[in-house]
Amino acid sequence: MSVRVRYAPSPTGELHLGSLRTVIFDWLYARQNKGVFIMRVEDTDQARVVEGSLKRQLYDLAWMGLTPDEGVYLNEQGEVGQKGDKGPYIQSERLPMYAHYAAKLLEDGHAYRCFATAEELDKMREEQQARGEIPKYDRRFRDLPKEESDKRAKAGEPFVIRHALPLDREVKGRDVIRGEMVFNTNDLDDYVLMKSDGFPTYQLASVVDDHLMEITHVIRGEEWIPSLPKNLLLYEAFGWKAPSFAHVPVILGPDGRHKLSKRDGSVNVAEYRDKGYLPDALFNMLTFLGWSPGTEEEFFTRDEFIRRFDLTRVQKAPAKFSFERLDYVNGWYIRQLSVGELATMLLLVLQKAGVPAEPGNYLLAVTASVQERLKHLDEAPEFTRYFFVRPDVNTELLELIIPKKGDLESTRKILKLAVDYLEKIPCEEWTVDVLDERLRLFIGMGEYSNIAVLWPIRAALTGVSASPGAFEMLHVLGKDESLARLRAVIAVG
Ligand code: GLU
Repeated sequence: MSVRVRYAPSPTGELHLGSLRTVIFDWLYARQNKGVFIMRVEDTDQARVVEGSLKRQLYDLAWMGLTPDEGVYLNEQGEVGQKGDKGPYIQSERLPMYAHYAAKLLEDGHAYRCFATAEELDKMREEQQARGEIPKYDRRFRDLPKEESDKRAKAGEPFVIRHALPLDREVKGRDVIRGEMVFNTNDLDDYVLMKSDGFPTYQLASVVDDHLMEITHVIRGEEWIPSLPKNLLLYEAFGWKAPSFAHVPVILGPDGRHKLSKRDGSVNVAEYRDKGYLPDALFNMLTFLGWSPGTEEEFFTRDEFIRRFDLTRVQKAPAKFSFERLDYVNGWYIRQLSVGELATMLLLVLQKAGVPAEPGNYLLAVTASVQERLKHLDEAPEFTRYFFVRPDVNTELLELIIPKKGDLESTRKILKLAVDYLEKIPCEEWTVDVLDERLRLFIGMGEYSNIAVLWPIRAALTGVSASPGAFEMLHVLGKDESLARLRAVIAVG
């Protein structure tokens, strides 16, 4: 049987790093088994549905290159579409199916109607707590005779449908990551399958859908472990074969004490896109949270990830997120881009930040000069503004150009001599190598220290304390612009 995995987002918020890691594992597992990656939308908790969140999550996933083979996707017009023959793939469009299966459970005695009101259940819980017990549904409607239950339902009394769990039963489940897991039904409630509004709960809907959509592997966050015995008993009640389950560990914040949250920094995928992280960097970072190839290797292409990933080697222990590592990984992927690819990305970022960059050779040269240093694209305006905008000549700049142990007067004298000297270099020879050679000659002739010459040139050209070095700046800016900037500094005062 071919592998079929599903990612089952709820449209109740934005795509979170934790969910993205689950999708990545789904996708890798499907791809490496030549299986099918399905997207199913779980929107049965209608009160929590957030307008536009589904589209945004699908957009984020498409940006990550994680598009489904089947199910819900974003079409070329940017609208939500569905494809595949096991649909609909949006749960709110499948209500009759859940009603059908809930009725079947009722009929077979695996489920029962519960007519308890919210107030009644609150009171029950309060009393249990007062007695020092853990609050738990007390099965008060489990033995209601069928005729009476039917009569009350017919009369329009609101009810929920609960799963009649076997009493005092050991439930054994196998988890791909965690091995055998044992539960006892004494620790479980007769939980709700159908709510009074006619919508199923996650428990019913996910089991019915996973069965009807022929899902073979359910990969989900470890917060769903408590659902495992309920799910397994539901498969049993229906007489269906359960899929394999893999519960992936939670992602902890950098201090390793709590789940990664907004307090630690950005948690939504869209925020990382806006800050200039590359999809491949997020993919790498998240795949390595919980999984490791067992070697020292740190970087893989997607194809290599597909070959190397092993769901059974995902660890049980929670994994810690590191913002520093993400920067490091992102820097590596930025360096793997061609200069042209990176320039195209930077152009958007620069224009958005109001830096007057334009496509062309100059942009390519600027890009090449910062490629080594960029950790995320967002740094580009800061790192490259001076390539496009002349620094203001003001007191700050005049202070900046003074090297250690120097003073303004002698610095400007040196700059003036350097300009006269540079002027003689023909435009065709204005390359990093030639500039390097000539300026070193100049330094030698004047018996200056390197810093006494190279610092003021670099600082006067850029107006900032950190940038590519003097030769590279002179080269990228070109002869005319470089000399114009240097002269402007010499001219004042
Ligand atoms: N809709 C669930 C969620 O939002 C999916 C859990 C699962 O994968 O079964 O987390």
